[in-house]
Amino acid sequence: MNDLLKKSAVELAAMLRAGHITSVELTTACLDRIDALDGRIHAFLHLDRDGALATAAEVDRLRAAGEDLHPLAGVPIAVKDNMVTRGMPTTCASKILEGWLPPYDATVITKIKEARLPIVGKTNMDEFAMGSSTEHSAYGPTRNPWDVDRIPGGSGGGSAAAVAAYMVPLALGSDTGGSIRQPGSVTGTVGAKPTYGAVSRYGLVAMASSLDQIGPVTRTVADAAALTELIGGHDPLDSTSLPAPVPPLGEAVAKVAADGVLAGLKVGVVKELSGDGYQAEVLDAFTDTVERLRRAGAEIVEVSCPSFDYALAAYYLIMPAEVSSNLARFDGIRYGIRVEPTEGPVTAERVMAATREAGFGDEVKRRIILGTHVLSAGYYDAYYGSAQKVRTLIQRDFDRVFGQVDVLVSPTAPTTAFAFGDKLDDPLAMYLNDIATIPANLAGVPAMSIPVGVDGQGLPIGFQVIAPAHADLRMYEVAALVETLSGDVAGSCPAANWEEAH
Ligand code: GLN
Repeated sequence: MNDLLKKSAVELAAMLRAGHITSVELTTACLDRIDALDGRIHAFLHLDRDGALATAAEVDRLRAAGEDLHPLAGVPIAVKDNMVTRGMPTTCASKILEGWLPPYDATVITKIKEARLPIVGKTNMDEFAMGSSTEHSAYGPTRNPWDVDRIPGGSGGGSAAAVAAYMVPLALGSDTGGSIRQPGSVTGTVGAKPTYGAVSRYGLVAMASSLDQIGPVTRTVADAAALTELIGGHDPLDSTSLPAPVPPLGEAVAKVAADGVLAGLKVGVVKELSGDGYQAEVLDAFTDTVERLRRAGAEIVEVSCPSFDYALAAYYLIMPAEVSSNLARFDGIRYGIRVEPTEGPVTAERVMAATREAGFGDEVKRRIILGTHVLSAGYYDAYYGSAQKVRTLIQRDFDRVFGQVDVLVSPTAPTTAFAFGDKLDDPLAMYLNDIATIPANLAGVPAMSIPVGVDGQGLPIGFQVIAPAHADLRMYEVAALVETLSGDVAGSCPAANWEEAH
């Protein structure tokens, strides 16, 4: 593999600015790497070779002409296939959107284009971001670069695998219940879900609007900070966008990495987010990391958030309710495929039914049915209403414990990467992967996964840092400290030596 690919985005950006490398050289290296590996990994659903190289060439030309460019200009990026890209296929890994070419760009894409980062392609995911393994993609699963017989997490398995396998230094993910952080955990990558509203959702194909958030997928905390600074900030096109600028995350991360300490830090260990159901090695790596934080001067406090025990149940009522309403727009008339009934009259209703029957996969149908049920007149109060009350209790738990500590920590996922097929036929077992990530979505608070070690089989383990709403800067500071104390876990991914191993 080209040694350039092992460098972080921040390092590559500096090399580009100094004129040590060109963006065409770097983008070509990424595309070559994708050509070499993606037949096996299947991180990408669509590649835009020409578009990426054209952007790269333009960056090189402008830089040579002395133009003032964005610090990340020329650094290649991959985008999860649920963010709309003008003229470039956007399928959400669903058959129903096959062949659809969006007429506009998501705000995050506009920002990336304005900053001139070559977009190499769109990454694989569970259909409409529903799943924890990328096995629910209508176009076949993505493989985990650490062990190709295992899942890369989900729903953003494609972005995580692309970054873990050194195909790109940067990728975008979306996180509704953990789809950035859980793939991060099982692929040894860094993934962050910003505070709800900190990054625009305009042009993100909605799964559950009150939970969805776009965020970075990278190999280092500094890269996640740099990418968030680029994509974040207020957007008048998203009514839930926060009217606040992105804080100087990169600067804060660099300072903590240099100092190796965070004076006066109080860390809360959430009692409810460990114990039963968590793999022993995951708990060991978690305890070790907490111990390292203690030795680095942090005060460690055990805190209890009793309502977190109901978070998964509340999520699997609120999320499908929003899914059933958001996915009503896929009617065979406005977007993507259109399937006409094989016999009988061609009415709008029957076209809609035939299209949705053919276009949606089983998991998507399951959630639409569940959502329609919990919103139906006779059950609304019992299910949806109760779930919303639990959501409020979870928010109160967060408010209370954040009065005592600066951040909360937990394992990101209960286990390391599991084998294909292990949980595919058991939706509840699949849903349990989200047990530690969901509370942050329900409360809208920022949360992040950082790789901290590997298990006995050499599979990566993630550590989650959760901060209060709007305290993304604090989360990044703690993540930087955790990274400094844990060493380079991503660097030990066997995909780094792919040529030798395969
Ligand atoms: N695994 C979760 C689910 O299936 C998370 C999805 C997500 O964050 N997009 O709902």
